[in-house]
Amino acid sequence: MERKRMPTRICWNCHVLSNMKLPQLGTRYLYEAGTQLMDCMFPKLEDCHGNRESSFVIYVCANCGYPNIARYPQDENVDFDEPEEWIPASSIGKEYSDVPRTVADAASEAYKCFSIGAYRATVITARSVLEAIATEKISSPANDRGRDKGLKEKLKNLVDEGVIPSQLGDYASAIKDIGNGSTHNIFEPVTKNEASYILDFLDMIIDEVYQRNAKLKKLAAKSQEFSRVKEAKLFGKH
Ligand SMILES: [Zn+2]
Repeated sequence: MERKRMPTRICWNCHVLSNMKLPQLGTRYLYEAGTQLMDCMFPKLEDCHGNRESSFVIYVCANCGYPNIARYPQDENVDFDEPEEWIPASSIGKEYSDVPRTVADAASEAYKCFSIGAYRATVITARSVLEAIATEKISSPANDRGRDKGLKEKLKNLVDEGVIPSQLGDYASAIKDIGNGSTHNIFEPVTKNEASYILDFLDMIIDEVYQRNAKLKKLAAKSQEFSRVKEAKLFGKH
């Protein structure tokens, strides 16, 4: 079997997009051609009494050497470069600049949940991050009776107190419906679209609350530098 190509994936261990190669099993004789795909495929037909729904190939990450398992359908024309699934799933977070570490870590975790299809966990995590940001930024997170305001009211306060523009507040009304059930009833289904919407919204809020000001400060610093240079030129200094 001549196979030049190798499947690639983002390795669950080193998080680098890597080639997945066959492990080097012991070569006993000089004329042996090395490890063949079939050597690394499980379960063996003799072990599963011939009824195999999927087959699994154990690969090794070319970058870090950790095993990554590919699942293939039981099909004669299977494309070994395109597995149906990789095990373990690789979760992919997100990097945020100019955002407090705690907020960035928690928001990144919501992205990790999304990347492995855990949409309920995405929504619950994202809602919690939104609520934590709002609690910190609004003047009074508790209502008149001293009770904690809900996410809906806190998002409204963010708009009223000018922390986020009113346009974003309009999109917030959808957030109150998405996953509001799942915080009270974990069995409530959450779609991929809903999870994706709340992540987009979370990113907008993070941008408004943290990143926009940082960008403005950088702009201000540059603009000051320009005027210093201009002044120096006017007065013939170098
Ligand atoms: Zn790796």
